[in-house]
Amino acid sequence: MKTVTFRNGRTVPALGMGTWNMGDSSVRRSDEIDSLRLGVEVGLRVIDTAEMYGDGRSESLVGEAISDIRDDVFLVSKVLPSNASYDSVLRSCRRTLKRLDTDWLDMYLLHWRGTTPLEETIRAFKTLEADGMIRGWGVSNFDVSDMEELKAASDECQVNQILYSLEHRGTEFDLLAYNQKASAVTMAYSPLGQGGDLLQNPVLKEIAQRYETDLGPAQPAQIALAWVMRQENVLAIPKAGTPDHLLANVASQAISLTEEDLKILDNAFPPPSSKVSLAVI
Ligand code: NDP
Repeated sequence: MKTVTFRNGRTVPALGMGTWNMGDSSVRRSDEIDSLRLGVEVGLRVIDTAEMYGDGRSESLVGEAISDIRDDVFLVSKVLPSNASYDSVLRSCRRTLKRLDTDWLDMYLLHWRGTTPLEETIRAFKTLEADGMIRGWGVSNFDVSDMEELKAASDECQVNQILYSLEHRGTEFDLLAYNQKASAVTMAYSPLGQGGDLLQNPVLKEIAQRYETDLGPAQPAQIALAWVMRQENVLAIPKAGTPDHLLANVASQAISLTEEDLKILDNAFPPPSSKVSLAVI
């Protein structure tokens, strides 16, 4: 399994699990829990959630899923910018830990930039770190200029979680390299284009036909994921709401795209030739 290493020395598989929209449907709940547990069973470690997702329902579902396997999981959650003041971060983190039924987060991120001065949010993160409630902190949806401002305030940021997929390659111009230089792991969100048009793309379908995995003929989703994971320092966090999708995503790690396939994908999804503002979902 490919890995990424955070600046605090923790190494985890470069494939993790997203959880946005999990916990919203009682019909899907047991599949979602099974999917997360299966992921950990087959060696994945990172689970990404946020206080925003379903107003805490995603965190509660994750807490239920990992209650007896907490030590095997690298848990990431995110605080909303509206809760980014010093006191609110501390309060939000306590609520998050309660929903997750755990004493600590492995990484705590500012979900996106708001109006609270970065220094104030960082001060709260450091208090949480000193108290053992979080083991590291980072940000999400920060473009290069935000990362530069952040660096002026602190050089302890360990993660920048951003949109990155074949459909959104703007960050290849500067941000991916900036993150790496700043020793911040890039967590790639929505790597499957949220399961939308990307997975119907004819070029992706054609390339999928060239590969086999343990599960049989490759699928477009596996090509999309293998493409994101070809990058160093990138931790992809697709959301799989079923065990079948989870296993397909895990199997994508065996796919190593050829130079020829990468060229074909470049034609269909051109890389940026100049600065593109960071796209967000
Ligand atoms: P993804 O790109 O991960 O796509 C998820 C969709 O793809 C779901 O509909 C899922 O269906 C489907 N899918 C998963 N695996 C497969 C497969 N092998 N074959 C076919 N379809 C598949 O979108 P997300 O927006 O969920 O992004 C991933 C995670 O990133 C989020 O869950 C969240 O944790 C994080 N995120 C962070 C943001 C931020 O601002 N920091 C913003 C957006 C996301 P099914 O559920 O049926 O498996």
